[in-house]
Amino acid sequence: MNALAIFDLDDTLIDTQGVLLLPALRRVAAIVGVDVDRLNHRGKAIDEVLEPLAALPADLRERAAEAWYDPTVPALDPLPGAREMLDMLRGRIHLALLTRGNPARQQAKIDSCGLRDAFAAIRIRVIEEAGTKRDDILALAREFDVSLARTVVIGDDPHDEIRHARALGCPVLPVPENALSDIPSRLADLGLVVPH
Ligand SMILES: [Mg+2]
Repeated sequence: MNALAIFDLDDTLIDTQGVLLLPALRRVAAIVGVDVDRLNHRGKAIDEVLEPLAALPADLRERAAEAWYDPTVPALDPLPGAREMLDMLRGRIHLALLTRGNPARQQAKIDSCGLRDAFAAIRIRVIEEAGTKRDDILALAREFDVSLARTVVIGDDPHDEIRHARALGCPVLPVPENALSDIPSRLADLGLVVPH
């Protein structure tokens, strides 16, 4: 195996927006005492979610952060085709997971969706810390001793993993433009796996 596929988690392999987003926004709205529509629904970090509001007292902000990053997650199904696609790629290309967020919450999502065993490496980019997924893509390629030209990044965020991968010269497969069930044949088209 001389190629590496790095997968994003949220809205790539699990339906975060559909299943987890609104309950998390509601928890935050209840704590800060506003209607849920007043929050930034596109926010990923708590500071982004609270951005439309005036400055909040520090203790309220802290409680809002705890609610947003609550490590208790419900039972999650992988998105349709995710498990089958990863099983089909096993042993044909190195598989890594790269996700940005709160470590406890991201680990809980990985366990809940049952995909942990699919990956040879799992990296969590801590959302409030310095650095970006660019650093992790470089580190993973080095760790697996694979060139960036043979390190493919699969994700949904054009401003995060897809942008960093493109800037590094890695091939990219954005989702949902690429259906999960088509990923193995796309990787074969790119010459990164042998066709089945
Ligand atoms: Mg994502």
